[in-house]
Amino acid sequence: MTNVAFIGLGNMGSGMADNLVKNGFNVTAFDLSEVALAKAKECGCHIADSTQQAVADADIVVTMLPAGKHVMDIYASQILENVSTQTLLIDCSTIDVETAKNVSALAKEKGISMLDAPVSGGVAAAAGGTLTFMVGGNADAFEKAQGVLGAMGKKIVHAGGHGAGQAAKICNNMLLGATMIATCESLQLAQKLGLDPQVFFDIASNASGQTWSMTSYCPVKGVGPQSPADNDFAGGFASALMLKDLGLAMQGAKGVNAQVPMGELAAKWFEMHCEEGNAGMDFSSIINRLA
Ligand code: NAD
Repeated sequence: MTNVAFIGLGNMGSGMADNLVKNGFNVTAFDLSEVALAKAKECGCHIADSTQQAVADADIVVTMLPAGKHVMDIYASQILENVSTQTLLIDCSTIDVETAKNVSALAKEKGISMLDAPVSGGVAAAAGGTLTFMVGGNADAFEKAQGVLGAMGKKIVHAGGHGAGQAAKICNNMLLGATMIATCESLQLAQKLGLDPQVFFDIASNASGQTWSMTSYCPVKGVGPQSPADNDFAGGFASALMLKDLGLAMQGAKGVNAQVPMGELAAKWFEMHCEEGNAGMDFSSIINRLA
């Protein structure tokens, strides 16, 4: 039986660890939150007293933490010193490309393989085992990770070397943030010009303006498939998380001198939207900022 240490059992990690248990992995969990640990125990995870204890006998370590600083801290001070060179490390958190590269370089210095494997899909996909993983790292480690990632997701893509998973994730979400705003403004303008939003949806989702934000996640209530707009923008993908990912994209762009004017504008809009008290609402609620 493969021993997996799972660190960070929050909104995403709890469902992911649950799917590992259901797929026959022997999971030892650690989180700073007692509530998260109690939930993990209910799912059949063994509970450790610390990260060091959780990773001690692990064949594979999976981390699902809030941000880059948590990832760097925990790997540098608690994980790398307590695993063997046979252990595979997989960080599924969404973090900046530079930290992802730096952490895997530290692991490499110790002869330990590491992958950055951020996910697309929210809490429901984590619980349902249908996440998409975008993976950065070497091909051998990617092969070795198939079983554990396959138990938590439906699509696993090798994006390239270290940091490539994070690069794919933030570029995708920058595109999503900008196209959601563009989709919202087209729908608003169409209505102001006298078009029925359902009619515009039927046209645009079959024409050259088609976007995922329109076709699969329409921000107008009652139009298109069921989406957070039908539920007053509750649930879904929080505006705060979109803002976080846009911030990471801006940081990445700055580091390589890339021009991202639409991404910058999207970041500003989501920043204002969050400051106005909408951080917890689904990101498609940005339509409410448009007069
Ligand atoms: P969360 O805040 O619910 O969970 C993070 C968990 O990490 C918490 O339970 C926290 O107690 C734990 N933690 C923090 N520091 C720790 C430490 N030093 N040791 C042990 N545990 C520690 O966050 P989440 O929504 O599960 O997101 C996790 C990651 O996944 C983030 O990087 C996020 O950007 C990314 N992500 C989230 C979603 C989503 O819809 N929630 C979607 C895609 C990606």
